[in-house]
Amino acid sequence: MKTRKVAKIIKGLKTSDGAGVSLTRIIGNPELSMLDPFLLLDEFGSENPDDYILGFPPHPHRGFETITYMLDGKFRHQDSAGNEGLLSDGSVQWMTAGRGVIHSEMPEQSHGLVRGFQLWLNLPKKLKMMKPSYCDIPKSEIPQIDIFGGIIKVIAGQYNNIKGPGKPHTGMFYHDIMLDKNATFNMPLIDGWNVFIYVYEGSIMIDKLVAKKRLAILKRTGDLKLSTQNKSAKFILIGGEPLNEPVARGGPFVMNTKQEVLQAFSDYQNGLLDK
Ligand code: MN
Repeated sequence: MKTRKVAKIIKGLKTSDGAGVSLTRIIGNPELSMLDPFLLLDEFGSENPDDYILGFPPHPHRGFETITYMLDGKFRHQDSAGNEGLLSDGSVQWMTAGRGVIHSEMPEQSHGLVRGFQLWLNLPKKLKMMKPSYCDIPKSEIPQIDIFGGIIKVIAGQYNNIKGPGKPHTGMFYHDIMLDKNATFNMPLIDGWNVFIYVYEGSIMIDKLVAKKRLAILKRTGDLKLSTQNKSAKFILIGGEPLNEPVARGGPFVMNTKQEVLQAFSDYQNGLLDK
């Protein structure tokens, strides 16, 4: 078995977004603008309400999907397509913006820990203007599989023929993995797919040590083999089939050409984004 080596290790950039929510931008920063088909990955996490209380008031999106995985805490989502959902500890919100939604993501708590991830998954050119859709995935619908030395939660894609509830519009998988100390984890990967790991507790060893709060981008061929040392670890493991299409970004809109991004701004200003 050929195993994948680490191509690059990246430290996220501390920033803020929305109405002033503190977060770490792991993908979508000057060091790593994207990792096809992934456009952005944010980690938010704080016990201080000042870091999250103002939330993300109404804002638009077009051309991709946002996948929010809430490890701890509660956020309420409302959008212009009439969808509303409460995101609570361990649940996932899968929002396909398609041709356009205007939504808000606001905390439903005024104290305590809020922690989670938001991932932006690009839509292929032929689906960018699809009808928006929205799916709330409660914790109970996410398969939690006991593996030797740990637990794997399958959010999207599959592990050992067990399928996750997420319904991406392009090839991808999203797993949340917990490993005990001195454990080993192997998983077959599809050659050519982009795969990354973000460690949020402890550290792991691939061919290099990947410390807490580091993103490891893997090379494009081979399977995955990693291990923990004298401490347990938690990490998300995400992979996707590259779209290999031109990407034009303009804030909350991600299209294939600059012209299409300008059209999105114009549609938004004229109240036509979600029409
Ligand atoms: Mn949003």
